[in-house]
Amino acid sequence: MVLDNLGSSLRSSLDTLQGKSRLDEEDVEEIIKEIQRSLLSADVEVDLVMELSASIEERATGEEPPAGTSARDHVLRIVYEELVDLVGESTDLPLEPQTILLAGLQGSGKTTSAAKMAWWFSKKGLRPAVIQTDTFRPGAYDQAKEMCERAEVSFYGDPDEEDPVKIARDGLEETAEADVHIVDTAGRHALEDDLIAEIEEIEQAVDPDRSLLVLDAAIGQGAKEQAREFDDAIGIGGVVVTKLDGTAKGGGALTAVNETGSSIAFLGTGETVQDIERFEPNGFISRLLG
Ligand code: GDP
Repeated sequence: MVLDNLGSSLRSSLDTLQGKSRLDEEDVEEIIKEIQRSLLSADVEVDLVMELSASIEERATGEEPPAGTSARDHVLRIVYEELVDLVGESTDLPLEPQTILLAGLQGSGKTTSAAKMAWWFSKKGLRPAVIQTDTFRPGAYDQAKEMCERAEVSFYGDPDEEDPVKIARDGLEETAEADVHIVDTAGRHALEDDLIAEIEEIEQAVDPDRSLLVLDAAIGQGAKEQAREFDDAIGIGGVVVTKLDGTAKGGGALTAVNETGSSIAFLGTGETVQDIERFEPNGFISRLLG
């Protein structure tokens, strides 16, 4: 079964169904409670957990298990289908010339992800360049430059220029030989008006093919507001979830995907440029419930 890594309490409540071919109301209630617990502890937003568990409950009580399927496998399939339905397949990223804008709060992993994504595109045979417009965080320029050197991809930044919009424009010109432009932006510690105004201006200047929201896997209930604000400002076409090598399960990404009507593009799994994976729903959902 796909969900081999289920959390132990969810697994044991499902195991009580072993051998049963029908579910009674109590069974369903018990399982729904466990699913809610797992999703909440994975940082999925409360309203979304309620919505998901309501549709799981409705299907678990309303649908007859197909002949030969145990009640346990039937419920598991429903849980899995509902989550896949929500999280979807990975964001479509054509291997062709394009401009990608990265948005997110400070520390979410934007700069690291920019270099990682450039490395990923270079391995696919494209010629990427990273443009660093973060003039807010000291060290952002050096960090991006160093990582791009390690990834052996083009880089543009200007430590003496304060206007990120000018850097973005100049960067696109200076790296015209590249075919994939990844534009890194400044974050702030919180959602502040100047952050949103700045990223709107950069978005207008670079006219990206897609804007991706970078989220730390450990983001909890704050994912919803962030996703809403960035989506309203620049239109979010996908999510990058970072720091999945830690203990956080990344449920905030589910919230963001739901809020923006987008999907997950990449997963960050470490601090080096190679620590990037394309999103794949099975593994992510197993981890979420694990
Ligand atoms: P930014 O402010 O959004 O540009 O964030 P950074 O790219 O500077 O990342 C903040 C910190 O998180 C840095 O110390 C990175 O090395 C670290 N980081 C970013 N992505 C990952 C990841 O996938 N795994 C781990 N373990 N650390 C990461």
